[in-house]
Amino acid sequence: MIFRRVLRYFKPYIGTIIFAVLCTLLVAGSTASMAYIVKYVIDDVFIKHDKAMLAILPFAFIGIFFLKGAGKYGQQLLMVKVGETAIMEMRNDLMKRIQERELTFFEKNGTGSLLARMLTDVSLMQNSVTYFVDFIRYLSTMLGALFVLFQKDWSLALIVCLFLPLAYFPIKRISKLIKRNTKKTQEKIGGLSKVLLEAFSGIEVVKSFGTEERELKRFRAEGETVLYYTLKRSRINSATAPILEFLASFGVAAVIWYGGNRVISGAITPGDFFAFLSALLMLGEPIRSIGNVNNKIQQAIAASERVFEIIDAPSDPCETVGDRELGPEVEKVSFENVRFSYNTREEVLKGVSFEAKKGEMIALVGESGAGKSTIMKLLPRFYGITGGSIKINGEDTRSFTAKSLRSRIAIVNQSTFLFDDTVHNNIALGRPTATREEVVAAARAANALKFIEELPKGFDTLVGERGDTLSGGQKQRIAIARAILMNSPILMLDEATSALDSESEKEIQAALSELMKGKTTLVIAHRLSTILHADRIIFMKNGEVAEVGTHDELTARDGDYARLCRIQFGSA
Ligand code: ADP
Repeated sequence: MIFRRVLRYFKPYIGTIIFAVLCTLLVAGSTASMAYIVKYVIDDVFIKHDKAMLAILPFAFIGIFFLKGAGKYGQQLLMVKVGETAIMEMRNDLMKRIQERELTFFEKNGTGSLLARMLTDVSLMQNSVTYFVDFIRYLSTMLGALFVLFQKDWSLALIVCLFLPLAYFPIKRISKLIKRNTKKTQEKIGGLSKVLLEAFSGIEVVKSFGTEERELKRFRAEGETVLYYTLKRSRINSATAPILEFLASFGVAAVIWYGGNRVISGAITPGDFFAFLSALLMLGEPIRSIGNVNNKIQQAIAASERVFEIIDAPSDPCETVGDRELGPEVEKVSFENVRFSYNTREEVLKGVSFEAKKGEMIALVGESGAGKSTIMKLLPRFYGITGGSIKINGEDTRSFTAKSLRSRIAIVNQSTFLFDDTVHNNIALGRPTATREEVVAAARAANALKFIEELPKGFDTLVGERGDTLSGGQKQRIAIARAILMNSPILMLDEATSALDSESEKEIQAALSELMKGKTTLVIAHRLSTILHADRIIFMKNGEVAEVGTHDELTARDGDYARLCRIQFGSA
């Protein structure tokens, strides 16, 4: 089945493949015809001393080698081209499919394992293309040699054929071992990449806590398991050729014994015998190599099973449901009795309901772990809810395409992810077509213009991996500029001003209030001072809405919110 699945990628190149196979046949044919040369050398030159034949044979020899070389060149070149192109398309599909998965998929698989699939599994498949070409060549050489064998002496050839099936059983067993081993190795390589990723991306933590030893130890441990499986595979690989050769020696021994008797009794000429023997020895190379090539192909099959497991996996509903476009007019966002749990663990939201109208600012407060960030992640459908519904303009968000839904929501998070690209492109992320003037205006509104203009190349400065060359506050201002530029009807701010000094915070707050006008805004704030004027404050407790109201209403109520206020502002 996996074979058929892979084959689909090769279908468009069928013409090239046929041409490559013709080249292969040329190689096999010229190899097999060498056996005839041997016959003429022995019978006509050595025994009959035929001078005319001697004059022809060297040219025939050169001619055959020329054809063989041309065939080999064509076959290799064409197949590699087809193979590499098909693999690239497979890798692109893999990337596309992975991006279409919901967040849970990434949390479950881990970046390390996904990287291993994208890189090493695909490259295992890539290697196999060349091996597959060899496989075809060996197979056709074998068929050519068998043809010569039967043509020379069918009774001798039958003896050979009796021994051929012997090779089947070890090859079958070895294939299974290799496949299982490859899957294990690839899993372990995933583990290795995970340790590497953590050690490098967390380098600051590693250095400040001095955990280099620990990382090295983890790396060694993962490396040792990889080594264990690699050596195991190498043992299988190294045994393959000797086992097959040993089996083949039985066939050759039988041929020498039986064929020698036939020469002595005069049934065949010595030339026939040697032609037969050289055809037989020609079988040796393919048989031995087919074992090794088969091992590589099994490896590739294991890798493709891991790759197609992802390409062919069913889509995640929260990424694919809905076929309508959500327009730019958003009058109302509502959560109705929304229930949700990550994986199968305990419910994180236990029936949350609230409403946010156009122009309103809704603040979510509550202790950490109450489910505030989760609410923010459910509106853009990063996860699928398990109960209730989330509606925009009274319609379930599941009726809209994920793309259009998300394009109407601008998010500013605590941690801003920047791409290793220019400041301009990082700001224009949600609207790549924005002009420089628009980007500058957004940066100005986010109070980011001054620091950007001081960068070495201004808006064209590269920010480094994850924006490492910028300060936390600068990154946050870029994130706010991003949201301003997107100009979406829904705005979600998660502690948006946490990384700013109080001076910038004031300015940004002003910019944000301007931005919020006419939009529907959800804010998570730990510092209550920023949400005193919210239209409604929702106090979350253990995945439930505990209190709802304005600041004045809630303080008058003297509940959890009032208590939180007293802690933050003092009893006054
Ligand atoms: P808050 O934003 O109020 O601090 P969160 O919404 O982040 O709370 O978290 C609510 C609960 O969900 C917590 O118990 C947290 O451990 C859990 N949680 C958050 N994110 C995930 C996740 N990706 N996978 C599993 N559990 C999660």
